Amino acid sequence: MDELLLIPGPTPVPLPVREAGSRPMTNHRSEAFARVLRTVLEGVRELYRTRQPVIPYASSGTGVLEAAVVNTLSPGDRVLALSCGAFGNRFSRIARAYGAEVTHVEVEWGTGVPLELLEEHLKKADYRAVLVTHNETSTGVQNDLSALAGARADRPALLLVDAVSSLGAVPLDMDGWGLDVVVTASQKALGCPPGVSFLAASQGAWEAYRTARMPRYYWDMGMVQDALRQPLTQTPFTPAVSVFYSLEVSLELIRQEGYEAVCQRHRLLSEAVRAGVRALGLRPVADERWASWTVTAVWLPEGVSAEALVGRVRERYGVVLAGGQGKLAGRVFRIGHLGYVWPQDVLRCMEALGAVLRELGVAVDPQAGVEAARRVFDSRAAQAV
Ligand SMILES: *Cc1c(COP(=O)(O)O)cnc(C)c1O
Repeated sequence: MDELLLIPGPTPVPLPVREAGSRPMTNHRSEAFARVLRTVLEGVRELYRTRQPVIPYASSGTGVLEAAVVNTLSPGDRVLALSCGAFGNRFSRIARAYGAEVTHVEVEWGTGVPLELLEEHLKKADYRAVLVTHNETSTGVQNDLSALAGARADRPALLLVDAVSSLGAVPLDMDGWGLDVVVTASQKALGCPPGVSFLAASQGAWEAYRTARMPRYYWDMGMVQDALRQPLTQTPFTPAVSVFYSLEVSLELIRQEGYEAVCQRHRLLSEAVRAGVRALGLRPVADERWASWTVTAVWLPEGVSAEALVGRVRERYGVVLAGGQGKLAGRVFRIGHLGYVWPQDVLRCMEALGAVLRELGVAVDPQAGVEAARRVFDSRAAQAV
């Protein structure tokens, strides 16, 4: 049985992207690899919608969150961390670990950051930076990033954005919205193996970089930028060469589908997932107004453990779902629907969920989820005609 990976990262890697990653190793300081590097960074830059250079690192997403902090801030800087869950908390802790004076504001898990909350805090103090998670993967909450950026607009605070589980699936307009630092990683919506992360910084963030005093070496974005600007485009340290090969192909697939279409596919998948789980008598963690396009966290029904549900769905049906994180561990399960995920995958997931819930003694029509999800896809297909 083919395993269907529906965790919120790493995400399924399609065959041509996997095959690209198996190409022979090469000299990472060669004209051939420089071309790959340039193509990938240019492609990612289009998704960011920025004129700024995109800075790559060999790291997971957490590494590049650290890069966002140490490149722009100094110990003692006042930082407002707006957290909606486990990843917002992580961003906040990184800033604190490097000596920022962090005001940690955590909203109820399952909701996003209301504009008024940001406005209220910006009135109270002068912050050097605001940290925000575009899409909170632990709760399935998607913030209204353009509105938050608008609320911050006339303040000097830099807006540092974790877009790890959104960029490539949810529209984001770095320059248009005035975002200062945006970070993402290869193993989420970009549908590649883990190992490469990206950062882009606004002009304001590059100015902040010049005076920022947090310790940095590996994450020094100026050093990366200098290497990229060599006549032979390169990185200061060895890049994850194979992942770049995969990225080159994946970005081409995204271009072929059309980025707008890719984003709309994610929105549709998320609607179908929510309709499906509701039809199975389950409740998403996120309020509908904050519902994420890329991941749905769902409360476990009474008397059903995460291990039993996630375990059986995997063993019997080959569908791999995720458990909960942080304080939601043991209380929710999560369905990732980002990257190379298609309607038939959502239907297979709903089929498995319905059957397993029934096996575990939940009084439910096992087909209700598939049918509800299919109705969402059918109604959209009808609209498109
Ligand atoms: C996955 C993810 C990260 C990074 O996690 P890593 O395991 O370090 O790659 C950061 N933020 C969000 C919102 C994520 O979903």
